[in-house]
Amino acid sequence: MLVHTEIETIVTTAARAHFFWTKRVEFSHDCFVCRRRGRTVLLDHGASEGRCLSTRKPAELVGRGIHSYEDVSFIHPAPVRISGFDVAESRTDDVVERTLRCRITSWWAPFQDAKDPDEAGTVPTAYPWVRLEYTVGCFACYDNGHTEALSRTGGIQSNLVLPSADTCPTCGQTLLTADSGPKITLVV
Ligand SMILES: [Zn+2]
Ligand SMILES: [Zn+2]
Repeated sequence: MLVHTEIETIVTTAARAHFFWTKRVEFSHDCFVCRRRGRTVLLDHGASEGRCLSTRKPAELVGRGIHSYEDVSFIHPAPVRISGFDVAESRTDDVVERTLRCRITSWWAPFQDAKDPDEAGTVPTAYPWVRLEYTVGCFACYDNGHTEALSRTGGIQSNLVLPSADTCPTCGQTLLTADSGPKITLVV
């Protein structure tokens, strides 16, 4: 079954803030490939597949001994991609209001959870969650010689405490605020 999900979010940035959406999205889904509910899929706009982050490799793929997280974590290609990414901005003297509308398209099939066989996967997942990544920076600090001040990565996500603010770690200026989290709408 082909499934489309619309994501919309609005943030406000200071006029003297550097800002762009990185086009990376993390999205929760029930994954029929690894048969687990509530997985996170990593999406990059332009990539033809997503990467599903399952926390553990199947036992038969893990050898004996002590393992790092990377040894046991399991990342597999997932039939999920970003099929639309539209950015809009509206400027006043002091602030810029920035809207991101993003469409996620996935292929989905029914399954029973590999760990809890009584539980069926659903679409959307029981607790839909999304994180939209951005790069934010402070021109005032950059002008004062802090060359790293323009390249900090942050994200706006569903379970943020609202209203939320992102401030410059050097000067404390508020660079970004959000009054609401991303809206997630299923469009089958
Ligand atoms: Zn998966
Ligand atoms: Zn600053």
